[in-house]
Amino acid sequence: MEDTHTRNWPAGHRAALILSFDVDGEYGVINRYGEDDWYWRSQAQYDLEAGVWRVLDILEDFDVQGTFCWVGRCAEDRPDAVRAAQEAGHESATHGWDHRYYRDMSLDQQIEDLKRTREVIGGITGEEPVGHKSPSWRFNEDTVKALQQLGFQWNMDYAAGDLPFTQQPESSADPILQLPPSRLWDDYSYFVDPIASPDNAYNMWRDDIDVLRAEGKLMCMTFHPWVIGRPAPSRALVHFLDYVAGLGDVWIARADHVAKWWRESANR
Ligand SMILES: [Zn+2]
Repeated sequence: MEDTHTRNWPAGHRAALILSFDVDGEYGVINRYGEDDWYWRSQAQYDLEAGVWRVLDILEDFDVQGTFCWVGRCAEDRPDAVRAAQEAGHESATHGWDHRYYRDMSLDQQIEDLKRTREVIGGITGEEPVGHKSPSWRFNEDTVKALQQLGFQWNMDYAAGDLPFTQQPESSADPILQLPPSRLWDDYSYFVDPIASPDNAYNMWRDDIDVLRAEGKLMCMTFHPWVIGRPAPSRALVHFLDYVAGLGDVWIARADHVAKWWRESANR
């Protein structure tokens, strides 16, 4: 039987894990519920006041690096948070200028939105972002074309699989590598509408990584600091990282590093 573990990941690793954190600030809930919904706005303002900082502490404790997907306006509002993540070794990627859905934009509007967001983040970090996740994963058939035109490398929108795959709608431009997320690997699904216990989320994610490790695949998680950065939910992340660290052979890596490995790996 083919050994997918050694084919897919760097030596000594049986699976890969990406920890991505979408920093929406209040803009995600403004887009969803409107500007006058202060109930949701204040809930989500926890993001930059407390959540990001607790998440950074947890990642530092485990000495792991992840990917922060910034809403452009959040980066503009709080460059200190962007800098803190960068200084801790995390990747900075784009997550829309103000969390408007890309599915509602033309190709040109998506290009403008991506450029504006990338410029603000790059202006803070000094490094041009190479990855993008669409707000609420609401993309359309033009999104990958826009990313290709702007020279992005990876996208985390298409949930169709457990391994990276390439998309190249514009044959004259370089392909985009899809890193598939899942609504089951999203803290929103556990701690926002139905409120689950941290054990519930931890048990699900532990079973996920067990299956993926047996198959040599990729787990690509999405968190929101105003959700997972709350006290009890943060324990789900801690317990999960503790479990994964104990396995000893899961590659926990930034999205850009996984994308680079996947592209350069001589085995495909
Ligand atoms: Zn978001």
